[in-house]
Amino acid sequence: MGLFSRKPPCPVCGGKVRSTAVKIEGKPICKNCLGKIDVESGRESRLTIRELREYLDFYERNRMLGEKFTVSERFDLGFLDAKIIFDFDNRLFCMGKNPDKTVFEGKHVKFFVIREDDAPIFEGSAEGIRRYPSAVPERAAAMAQRAAPFPAGSPASNAAGKADGGIPAPFSRFNVELYLEHPYWPVITCGMDGPRFDSGHPDVDGYLVAYRTCLVEIVRLVRAIKEVAFPDALEQLAGFYDSAEAISRAAPMADAAGRRDRIKCRPAASSPGGCVMGKSAC
Ligand SMILES: [Zn+2]
Repeated sequence: MGLFSRKPPCPVCGGKVRSTAVKIEGKPICKNCLGKIDVESGRESRLTIRELREYLDFYERNRMLGEKFTVSERFDLGFLDAKIIFDFDNRLFCMGKNPDKTVFEGKHVKFFVIREDDAPIFEGSAEGIRRYPSAVPERAAAMAQRAAPFPAGSPASNAAGKADGGIPAPFSRFNVELYLEHPYWPVITCGMDGPRFDSGHPDVDGYLVAYRTCLVEIVRLVRAIKEVAFPDALEQLAGFYDSAEAISRAAPMADAAGRRDRIKCRPAASSPGGCVMGKSAC
């Protein structure tokens, strides 16, 4: 026994390793080193020992950014990992409730896009922040003009919203993608559920209220990204306008449809607390 039973130390830091430790290049790595890794999905399993050492140098430098992080804005988009905090003074952000994960510098963001399912509604880069008209209010209003749900096979029907067995929603999810020049995170993705029609009392007005509430939060997110990444970028229209405008454009259509039924918003399936951003409206 003796020397022969002693486990080799972590090849990265020299710390103790467990017999069940994850191995890199056949060598077990200590829990402490592994616990610091925060890289894009799939990258972790491909790290070599040399790359892990380089990553830990990055980690220590990144901690200094975390220590000076002062939260200016918080977002909770309703998914487990979709919490984001921004530090406007230092132009930083972090995908978490606290700055204890990788802290990103806004200058590393090169481009972002926010889509309603696949349809872009915002894009941003140093060249400008562009907002595209959304088809969602019109789709919702058109829906109110039909007594029946969208025909099977239509784009809206295919889009989403059948999870509760009711009428499909015009879209299912806001998808956020940030593209960075960054050694460990070339792209960050997160998202937020769109509202759903109430299956018992489908009502376009209620849907649009919930949609507007979600959109206000998306606009707030766009402005936060702009603040840290592209503070001097011009806002272009299809650029910024008040999110209520999209709703008001759709409202006359909704009125014409004569559907002033009960206003009732239904929580998205994955957000048990209510409409992810629309609690005040629900
Ligand atoms: Zn170690």
